[in-house]
Amino acid sequence: MYNPKSLKAEEFIDDAEVLASLEYAEQNKHNRELIEQILEKAAPKKTGRGTECAGLTHREASVLLACDIPDLVEKMYQLANDIKQAFYGNRIVMFAPLYLSNYCVNQCVYCPYHYQNKSIPRKKLTQEEVKQEVIALQDMGHKRLAIEAGEDPVNNPIEYILECIKTIYSIQHKNGAIRRVNVNIAATTVENYKKLHDAGIGTYILFQETYHKESYEKLHPAGPKHNYAYHTEAMDRAMEGGIDDVGLGVLFGLELYKYEFAALLMHAEHLEAVHGVGPHTISVPRLKRADDIDPDAFDNGIDDDTFAKIVACIRIAVPYTGMIISTRESEQCRNKVLDLGVSQISGGSRTSVGGYAGYKADERPHDTEQFDVSDQRSLDEVVKWLMDLGYIPSFCTACYREGRTGDRFMSLCKTGQILNCCHPNALMTLKEFLEDYASPATKETGEKLIREELEKIPNEKARKLAKEYIENIHLGKRDFRF
Ligand code: SAM
Repeated sequence: MYNPKSLKAEEFIDDAEVLASLEYAEQNKHNRELIEQILEKAAPKKTGRGTECAGLTHREASVLLACDIPDLVEKMYQLANDIKQAFYGNRIVMFAPLYLSNYCVNQCVYCPYHYQNKSIPRKKLTQEEVKQEVIALQDMGHKRLAIEAGEDPVNNPIEYILECIKTIYSIQHKNGAIRRVNVNIAATTVENYKKLHDAGIGTYILFQETYHKESYEKLHPAGPKHNYAYHTEAMDRAMEGGIDDVGLGVLFGLELYKYEFAALLMHAEHLEAVHGVGPHTISVPRLKRADDIDPDAFDNGIDDDTFAKIVACIRIAVPYTGMIISTRESEQCRNKVLDLGVSQISGGSRTSVGGYAGYKADERPHDTEQFDVSDQRSLDEVVKWLMDLGYIPSFCTACYREGRTGDRFMSLCKTGQILNCCHPNALMTLKEFLEDYASPATKETGEKLIREELEKIPNEKARKLAKEYIENIHLGKRDFRF
C-alpha cells in the first residue's frame, strides 16, 4: 500500500501508485483546463518572504509530462525557465568526476564494470595516483569533484574511499584546492554513511538506475546491488547517518521513462515527508555505449526532445532541487537543457580510472572507461561556451562550507537572498578561474561578464564587498565567500 512516510521501498515507491499516476496522466494529457491549473499552481509567486514555488505532486507532474499539446508544452518550457531564473539565475555550477576504482562485484547488465566483464582492465588508484589526478584536476581549475567507484568490499572498502577523500582534501597545488567532494558509491550502511559525513563529503549521490522492481532485479542479477529494497532505502540510511544533501537519479534508457519520472518524484516526496528535506540534486544520466555494452540492446532509449521535456518537468515539480547533467550528453543537447532547469554540469571529464594525470587535453585513455563521453571539450572551452551563451560558470562550494545544507539551503533559495549570496560567490570563483587557469580569450570574455554581473547584486553592501574581494583575488588572495 502506498505510503510516502513508510521506510519500506515497496511502500514509498508503490508500483500500483506509479501505475495509477500514469493512468491518470494518460486520461488527462489533453485536459487543457487541468494542465493550465497545474502550470498556475507551479508558477513562482511573490510572498512576504520572497519568491516561492509550490512544486507539484508526482501525479500532477506526470500529467505535464504526458501532455503533447504544442502551446502547452511551450508554456511548460517557459515556466521551467522562469523557475530556473528565479532560483538559480544564470549560474551554472561546474564539477568533474574522479574515478577511483573500477573493481566491482556487481553484475549490472548496462555497466562495463560488471564482474563478468573480463575484457576491461581493472584498476584502482594508489594514494599517490589520487594525488596526481587531483593535481591534474586542480590545474584545469576544478574545485568540486564527484568521486566514483565500483562496489567491491575487498578492493574498495569504505576505508579506501575515506583515505582517498582525505588525500583529495589535503592537496594544495599552486592556488588549487578541491573544496567539495561529492561521493557516488554503492548503497551502504548507516555506520558507513556516518563515516562519509565525518569525512566532510558534500552530496551523497546514488542513482536508482530503475525504480521498477522487477526490471531492477533483472538488470542486477547478482551481487549486493541485486537487493532492490536495500538500494532504494539507501538515502534514508544516508540521512540517518547525518548526510542531509543527497542526490537522486535514474539511468534513462533502462525502463519506461514515464514510470521512472513518477517514481523519482515519489522518492523526492518520501524524503521530504520523512526527513523534512527533499533531494539536494537530481541527475538525469542516459545510457551510453561502453566496452561490452550496446545501448541499442535496451528498448527504452529516449530522444533528445523527450529528454528535454523530462528536464523541464523535473524543474517545475521540484523547484529547489539542483539538476545535474554530465558529459554523457553532447554540446547541443546540453545547450537545450541548460535553459530548462539544469544547474550543474561537468566539464573536461574523464570516465576512466587514472584518466587525467599525464594526458593532454585532447588525449583520452579508453581502456578502463565507464562510458563514452559525448562532450569532449576541455574545461576552459566549456567555461567560454557557457559565458558566450550568457551563463555564469560557477566554481562555488560556499553553501556546504558555511553549513547551508539541507533545508538551510532551501530557505536561502526561498528568501531570494541568492542574488546577494550565490551570485557574488559565483563571480568570485569565476574570477579565481580566470586568474589561475583560463586561456586569454576565456579571460577576456570572463572579465567583461564579471564587471557587468557585479552591478546586478541588489544589496549595496554586498555589491561593494564583492568588488573588493574580486580586486583582492586579482592581487593574489583566494577563497572569499558569502
Ligand atoms: N558503483 C556505484 C553504484 O553502483 O551505485 C556508483 C558508481 S557508477 C561508476 C555511476 C553510475 O554510472 C551508475 O549509477 C550508472 O547509473 C551509470 N552508468 C553505468 N553504466 C553506464 C552506461 N553504460 N552509460 C551511462 N551511464 C552508466
